[in-house]
Amino acid sequence: MNDTTNLHEVDVLVVGGGLHGTSSAFHMARRGAKVIVLEADYVARHSSGVNAGGVRTLGRPLPEIPLALMSREIWYRMSDLLCEDGGFVPSGQLKIAETDDELEACRQRVALLESHGFTHEKVIDRESVLELEPALARHVTGGIWVERDGFALPYRTTTAFRLAAQRLGARFLEGTPVRRIEQRGTRWFAVTSRGTFSAEKLLVTAGAWSGELTKQVGEPVPVHPEGLMLMVTHRVAPFCRATLGATGRPLSFKQFDNGTVVIGGKLIGIADLANRHGEVDFARLVRSARTVTDLFPHLRNLGVNRAWAGVEAFTEDELPVISASRKASNLYYSFGYCGSGFQLGPGCGKLVSELILDGAPSIPLDAFAIDRFGRDSSFSRTAQLVTH
Ligand SMILES: Cc1cc2nc3c(=O)[nH]c(=O)nc-3n(C[C@H](O)[C@H](O)[C@H](O)COP(=O)(O)OP(=O)(O)OC[C@H]3O[C@@H](n4cnc5c(N)ncnc54)[C@H](O)[C@@H]3O)c2cc1C
Repeated sequence: MNDTTNLHEVDVLVVGGGLHGTSSAFHMARRGAKVIVLEADYVARHSSGVNAGGVRTLGRPLPEIPLALMSREIWYRMSDLLCEDGGFVPSGQLKIAETDDELEACRQRVALLESHGFTHEKVIDRESVLELEPALARHVTGGIWVERDGFALPYRTTTAFRLAAQRLGARFLEGTPVRRIEQRGTRWFAVTSRGTFSAEKLLVTAGAWSGELTKQVGEPVPVHPEGLMLMVTHRVAPFCRATLGATGRPLSFKQFDNGTVVIGGKLIGIADLANRHGEVDFARLVRSARTVTDLFPHLRNLGVNRAWAGVEAFTEDELPVISASRKASNLYYSFGYCGSGFQLGPGCGKLVSELILDGAPSIPLDAFAIDRFGRDSSFSRTAQLVTH
């Protein structure tokens, strides 16, 4: 990029065009900020475009719940905000218990949430589960139900944020990997193969690649990649309305209107960070297919049409980093969403815009500070306790 004149008028550089980058860009552009998003591949190429689309407040670690509830309100207003609903379907989400112990764990979780003032998750008994989903195997014992959760179409959602941000003046440069970030004086510089970009503020939303950038400013963070897998089946007659998860084993499950079923649930495949690529491990997929046929025996002979893996960022305490840098001024982070960042994208983009433009988000983000790692944080321990 040789024409740097306009680029020097930019307020914020965003590194990474996943949902968190596009949503942050949208919310900042909406406030009048001039934004450029630098994307190594193309917008929504990675997790944000290939995920399971679960719009789930259910099962969140405690610190994420206020963010997830706020984000959910944006999901319901998406059409007004973006002129596009991202394919959002408020199907409800149901987490199934398959034993009495699992149902007891569900009761304990909901009681703990209620003691913190959160009432969105409801324990339901076996009869209610089977009433919601009559095709489920009879051994289920109950579950947790969240009526206002659902699912959406990831590529469509991320593209909708991108297009809405563009309409407000944000610029997106694809095929533009940022090699280096550095602060000189009061400005940030992002060095790419297409030239050097500059702005007063810089936001890193580079997903699983974010750790490479934080290291460059002397702020290493324990974030690592995983290749999360999904498979989609052939079409089958409608049998399941809600988006499903399980309590005792990994599962994320939904049937689309066209009859296909998407199956996932943080199934770990292979992540190749250097080649920016996720790889399917078929042996592990088989285990997950077994969970599905245990719960829906009539699917035993249903064929799998397609399987894929996306590269996702995980942190050691299973919470994202949503934070101002503690090492440098005007540097911000939003990454490490641990397989659950799609639902959070619309809301976290808003909070990040407040952090960057106002210095204070409308929901406190202390639990997500970048300098929390290595600290003895009782908040993080509580978070882990209530994750599952
Ligand atoms: C298979 C799968 C299923 C999932 N299911 C769900 C679900 O049902 N519900 C849910 O809530 N979440 C789910 N997730 C998680 C969710 O998709 C992610 O948490 C979320 O999309 C993360 O968004 P992001 O913007 O942080 O990262 P990404 O989408 O990874 O975006 C980061 C972007 O940064 C770019 N980038 C990286 N380095 C650079 C650089 N140096 N310069 C320029 N650009 C760079 C990348 O190319 C990428 O496009 C799932 C994830 C996967 C993989």
